[in-house]
Amino acid sequence: MNHCARRTGRDDTPGGGCGGLTWGMIHAAPARKATGAGAPESSLSAPARELRDAGLQMGAPAPAAPGERASLPRRMSDVLPAHREHPRTLGANRYVYAVISRRAGGVSIGVNLSPHKACNFDCTYCQVDRTTPGTEKTVVPEVLRAELRAVFEAAASGALAAEPRFATSPAEMRRVVDVAFSGDGEPTNEPWFPEAARILAEERARAGLRDLPVRVITNATVFHRPEVAETLRFLDAHGLDVWAKLDAGTEPYYRLVDRSRVPFERVLANLLACARERTVTIQTLFARHHGEAPPAAEIAAWAGRLRAIREGGGRIGWVQVHTVSRVPAESFVTPLSLEELEPIAAAAREALPGTRVAAYRGSL
Ligand code: SF4
Repeated sequence: MNHCARRTGRDDTPGGGCGGLTWGMIHAAPARKATGAGAPESSLSAPARELRDAGLQMGAPAPAAPGERASLPRRMSDVLPAHREHPRTLGANRYVYAVISRRAGGVSIGVNLSPHKACNFDCTYCQVDRTTPGTEKTVVPEVLRAELRAVFEAAASGALAAEPRFATSPAEMRRVVDVAFSGDGEPTNEPWFPEAARILAEERARAGLRDLPVRVITNATVFHRPEVAETLRFLDAHGLDVWAKLDAGTEPYYRLVDRSRVPFERVLANLLACARERTVTIQTLFARHHGEAPPAAEIAAWAGRLRAIREGGGRIGWVQVHTVSRVPAESFVTPLSLEELEPIAAAAREALPGTRVAAYRGSL
């Protein structure tokens, strides 16, 4: 998943670490009514009622620690907190954030299912900051639901797109365009992915966002697991759009860049199986390693993998070719220029005539 860049608040590449804990904090909807303990039942949103029932109030001081339900946000303002400037601050939200995504074309709601920051890949270009520990080992379903509910409500009301941190973005980018599983690890590899998918689908429908695409930004390593395949099929009925990583054409280059113990053949087989069931987007990050651009033979092999997916009955709707845009895990990784990316994109176009292929410049 080129997920990492999503977590920096402005996703000038779409991925590169799999998510985005840097959301610009979301303001409560301007029209939101008072929600204190004395507010009428009808004036309370469901999350506000949930928090009130837990002894909490929107904007009210948190209760004393003894007896506190640690699994819930302590205040509604922790779910819809005030704007903060620090680009890598998650605020009080633990899993749900928002970024401007250039490739998605607007404001993308991100869902990080890997707060522990572990991943079954170790991409040289990963932009997840692993110099600091993860925040927690698991995802608490009721907290995820409360965060999604609040953010979806803000999306539906227009408050999310109007959030001040997006004010400097072009007007056409200030609209909510998707919700994406894209965090600090591989979302489909998390045991709570199936439940998280169900919660997301329920809250998306509850907010009336039935047309909002649900993206899964993924490295495709575990699609073969029955529970993952079933979850993807479930999400097919709820706006699923798979964005899957393919960073190499050969096993050695895959080992060099993605540094995973998962066999490359497993990734390729999973990509093919997935693309036979639904149209997928392929995300590819090419960069310079120790000053060396990917060899021409590697580019040709990569294009051949794309062709093989199509010839095998898979459907690829979009190929995104990009490079490093955030500080990578390894200092020996540096971006390619757009002039270097364009021939790579051209190789994909030749392999997949008629398919949308785009190259995205880096920003380092
Ligand atoms: S190491 Fe994991 S989180 Fe980072 S870019 Fe690779 S797949 Fe994404």
